[in-house]
This record gives sequence, C-alpha cells and structure tokens, in this order.
Amino acid sequence: MSASRMILLGPPGAGKGTQAAGLINRLGIPHVSTGDMLRAAVNAETPVGLKAKAIMDAGELVSDDVVIGIAEERLSEDDAKNGFLLDGFPRTMAQAEALEGLLSKLGVELDCCLAITVDNDAVVERLLKRAEIEGRADDNEETIRERMREYDNKTAPLLDFYTGRGVLTEVDGMGTIDEVEERIKQALEG
Ligand code: ADP
Repeated sequence: MSASRMILLGPPGAGKGTQAAGLINRLGIPHVSTGDMLRAAVNAETPVGLKAKAIMDAGELVSDDVVIGIAEERLSEDDAKNGFLLDGFPRTMAQAEALEGLLSKLGVELDCCLAITVDNDAVVERLLKRAEIEGRADDNEETIRERMREYDNKTAPLLDFYTGRGVLTEVDGMGTIDEVEERIKQALEG
C-alpha cells in the first residue's frame, strides 16, 4: 500500500474509527481524528471544548473556523510530515478548500480519499448499539438522525469534489470488520 496522505470519508457509524485503527498500523501514519481531538478538548474543558460541547451533543457540526484551526495545527506537526490519515475532516466544502490550501502550503499532495459506503438504516442500528456500550453523549436516536442529516447536506458533496480531484476510492462498508478491512486493502493496492 503506497497511499500515505489519506482522508477517510463516510457517514456516522460507517466504521471509520475501526478501520482507521488497522490502516494506521499497516501504513505507519498518524491518525488525525477531529472527533477525537474535539472530545479531548471537551473533557479538558479548554475554551474550544467549552464552545464545542453543546454543538456536538446536538449532533451538529462545530464551526469551520474552529475545526480548520485544530486540523491545521495537527497536520503541521512533525509526525504528519510523511503522511496522515484524516478521519472526520474535512466534513464541509469550506474545510475541503482549507485543506487544499494547507497541503499546497506544505508542498504535499493528497494520495487518496477513501469513502466507506453504508446503508442508512443499518448505520442507525450500529450507532444505537455503540451508544449502549460506550455511552457517548451524542449517540441517541435523535442526535444520530441529525448527524446523518448533517452528513447528507454538508459532507456528501465532498464525494464529487474528490472524484473531480481523481483521488476518490469507494469501499462497501457493509459486512464484518474483517471483510471491510480486506476490501480496503484490495482497493488501496489496486
Ligand atoms: P461520527 O462518529 O459521527 O463520525 P466524530 O467522532 O468524527 O463523529 O465527531 C463527533 C462530532 O464532533 C461531530 O458530530 C461534530 O459535532 C464534531 N466534529 C468532528 N469533526 C468535525 C468537523 N470536521 N467539522 C465539524 N464538526 C466536527
């Protein structure tokens, strides 16, 4: 697998976090998850965390300015020089454009946008199950539906954007974790 600057795209519950874990191991690149970074900020009660908490709990998207700032800072760190796996960013066209600007400033190019596709109803079920196990504050049915709406309205257009850039690879996310992992391996090798 040669891709080293990657975006992982997909609706909530598509299995991005799960597949990201395997990918960063195999590729030896850092996992850059804006969701994880925001949750850490919420737990640490930083100014960003205090601002983001209510928005995240409602299933809405945190403002582009805040998230772009966090992502730019992280991608500018040393360990991201030779590659990174972006998970949960970009999520809007404004974020995708900011990322383009940052990458050209850093003098690097995106290798791949890996999109995990899933069936909406199946995903709601997965997330409800995760809610029971992990007790994440944004995993209740109403919030899940809002996150789906946000995805459809604001994030799904990125599929066309990255198709246009010639870097989109789609993988079917339905099936077991191992099955999806295998599909990802094949898609990245092909
Ligand atoms: P999911 O499990 O729904 O894919 P994440 O763990 O990636 O969600 O993110 C959780 C929440 O953090 C989102 O619902 C959103 O409020 C906020 N968030 C994460 N990344 C972004 C982003 N790139 N832009 C705006 N909000 C974000």
